[in-house]
Amino acid sequence: MMVRILVCGAVSDRQIAQMRETFSVDDFRDEPVNDNPRLEAALAEATALINGGLAITPERLDRAPTLRVIATISVGYDAYPVDELSRRGILLCNTPDVLTETTADTGFALIMAAGRRVAELDRFVRQGDWKSGIGPAQFAVDIHGKTLGMIGLGRIGAAVARRGALGFGMSVLYSNASQKPELETELGARHCEMSVLLAEADYVCVTVPLVEETVHLIGAAELARMKSTAVFVNISRGKVVDEAALVAALQKGQPGAAGLDVFETEPLPADSPLIGMDNVVLLPHVGSATHETRDAMAQRAVDNVCQALSGESPISPVNLESWRR
Ligand code: NAP
Repeated sequence: MMVRILVCGAVSDRQIAQMRETFSVDDFRDEPVNDNPRLEAALAEATALINGGLAITPERLDRAPTLRVIATISVGYDAYPVDELSRRGILLCNTPDVLTETTADTGFALIMAAGRRVAELDRFVRQGDWKSGIGPAQFAVDIHGKTLGMIGLGRIGAAVARRGALGFGMSVLYSNASQKPELETELGARHCEMSVLLAEADYVCVTVPLVEETVHLIGAAELARMKSTAVFVNISRGKVVDEAALVAALQKGQPGAAGLDVFETEPLPADSPLIGMDNVVLLPHVGSATHETRDAMAQRAVDNVCQALSGESPISPVNLESWRR
């Protein structure tokens, strides 16, 4: 049987050519993923899928009897039914590590933009409101020397904390599933209960994955613990935060500002109250979106698929044990 790789994610021509040296490739990079009968027909014959946006449901898997490998071009895999894939003997691979530093850059960009009111004051200048000297109405809050609270201290969380501690002289508090003694030594980070972190931090940054236990991890009660001067940043997944509660909290001014890359519904609906709020900086889920990093992520997905189809262990499997079984 011909081994076919279906591509519906942003990989480069060079990477397509790399796969075609050994395998047959069905290239759907420029086609819609929804309501596309040609794509569904290709999926029915695919051995592997490199995916950037096709929803993977049990019904769709029923129509893909030969599928053995899915490589998502992302580190987060909350959109995939992992148990269902394992049950069917389908390997899922993701792209950790290669996006860590870029996503941490985005997190820190939001910390700085929301803390120093960059987007709001940019609008102030463009709208012609800069008519005389600026005063306390335009003042922001310091970043250097303040307390950074990391909710989640994994790969990306540690990289954000490193920027804060080593670049800006910030004290780091963290709450995380496990304690991280090596980061406590490296950064002077202090492990604490999330409730303590929320009350003490000047900047709170969320980097946990979206799993059952982290859905609405941050809700009205958690936000109410924050300082009125605090800045809240979410670069994890939208559903980790109760967005309606966040809107209400920001309207009350506690926390004082937010920087958000991810939302409960994406793209962010045009009628979202967040859009009209001056104390919020909004990004369109671009945590890892640089030319270099997106290329590295695509390369990791291609390598994962090529290795798995060649019978080797891929670099970043999610459910390797189920695949072996
Ligand atoms: P990671 O290395 O697995 O880090 C996640 C951290 O969260 C780990 O330290 C883990 O603890 C901790 N954690 C897990 N469940 C928790 C819970 N219930 N309570 C407290 N802590 C918990 O993952 P990563 O590479 O840093 O990526 C983190 C997430 O960022 C991804 O899952 C993805 O959703 C998101 N992300 C977003 C973008 C974007 O574009 N905005 C880009 C990349 C990633 P342990 O260390 O004890 O396991």
